[in-house]
Amino acid sequence: MMLGLPKLLLLLVLAWLAWRVYKRWQTQRLSLPKTQKPGQPPASSSEDMVRCRQCQVFFPASQAIYAQGDSFCCEAHRKQFLSDT
Ligand SMILES: [Zn+2]
Repeated sequence: MMLGLPKLLLLLVLAWLAWRVYKRWQTQRLSLPKTQKPGQPPASSSEDMVRCRQCQVFFPASQAIYAQGDSFCCEAHRKQFLSDT
């Protein structure tokens, strides 16, 4: 009995750890397809995403530079687009 109790406790701890690892793996596996959608812009944040007219890259609307109703990711692309047309 003196040696049996520590072994039982160790077994319980190992079982608990295995359960924790299993649950974490399960939640990660389930949450992965929701966050990764290939071919679509990231929509994780509540912020609006706009597209640069020059390089077609999506970025937060708060960082956008607006000119003549179009949105641009940076000042250089705004100048490029306006000089092209
Ligand atoms: Zn751009």
